[in-house]
Amino acid sequence: MKLIDGKSIAENVHNETKGRIAALSERGFRPGLAVILVGDDPASRAYVRSKDKRAAELGLHSVKHELPATASQDELVALVQSLNADPLVHGILVQSPPPPHIDEAAVVQAIDPRKDVDGFHPVNVAKLALDDPTGFVPCTPLGCLRLLAESGIPTAGANAVIVGRSMIVGKPMALLLMRRGQGGDATVTIAHSRSKDLTAITRRADIVIAAIGRPHFLGVDHISEGAVVIDVGINRVDAPGTPRGHRLVGDVDFDAVAERCAAITPVPGGVGPMTIAMLMSNTVTACERLANT
Ligand code: NDP
Repeated sequence: MKLIDGKSIAENVHNETKGRIAALSERGFRPGLAVILVGDDPASRAYVRSKDKRAAELGLHSVKHELPATASQDELVALVQSLNADPLVHGILVQSPPPPHIDEAAVVQAIDPRKDVDGFHPVNVAKLALDDPTGFVPCTPLGCLRLLAESGIPTAGANAVIVGRSMIVGKPMALLLMRRGQGGDATVTIAHSRSKDLTAITRRADIVIAAIGRPHFLGVDHISEGAVVIDVGINRVDAPGTPRGHRLVGDVDFDAVAERCAAITPVPGGVGPMTIAMLMSNTVTACERLANT
């Protein structure tokens, strides 16, 4: 079994990104990323902290806006609009999920699609569906694709089963894997909570992408001998006796599945670091596009 080391592959991406930042710097440009956090959800806070930290480490212009959970929709949209107009900011991200009174779709639509480095704006969703490379692709599925590529796992002709149909992971992942050409050309199946006989579906897969949000949901019965498993899930489970009292696990029962699969990503240290790496890369792309206009 090969362990797909997301941490080290993410470092490769960051090194490439550094080179691109240096090239932009020689031309007088510095990519900027603005991250907005609304409320105080601890997981969201942790994600925002690591994005902001990595952006600063890479030498990006990095701004973090923290709004209280009581912030109104209008306030949030006004902040997005001010960042749209800010020439120092090339990428804008609103950490999901916002508090329930916020209409997340409306906020995403307020982001200038050219600064939508998360790839959630309808213009960018459409560009992905249309195979138009001028958009932005969501960072997590983009990171999964890169993990497969760097691990030498062929996708052409492979049966890829994605469990989960969210707009953030499952759906864009399917679009990427079914694209023509390098990293695509897979035969894609999407399964979800209404799928019948999930075990039979996933057992047919050469590549399983798990994006469910349920700890250890896919077990040894779901995975066939020699399959490749990409575990997107990040689930917090109680871990009495540990300093934090909890630990993070994926959607896949790693210990059981690792015995029979050909390659697997760990949680943590698999897809998570790739999401941040692709976010930084998308932000630099946004700046490069501006620099080249
Ligand atoms: P969502 O809750 O939006 O989607 C979960 C999907 O799983 C849904 O399509 C749902 O089906 C499906 N599902 C739920 N239960 C079952 C079941 N019993 N059988 C089959 N399918 C099921 O989650 P996200 O896509 O946003 O996230 C998924 C996981 O990935 C989470 O753990 C999240 O924390 C993690 N994540 C990790 C990231 C990273 O950087 N590593 C980034 C983003 C997410 P239905 O549509 O029918 O409800």
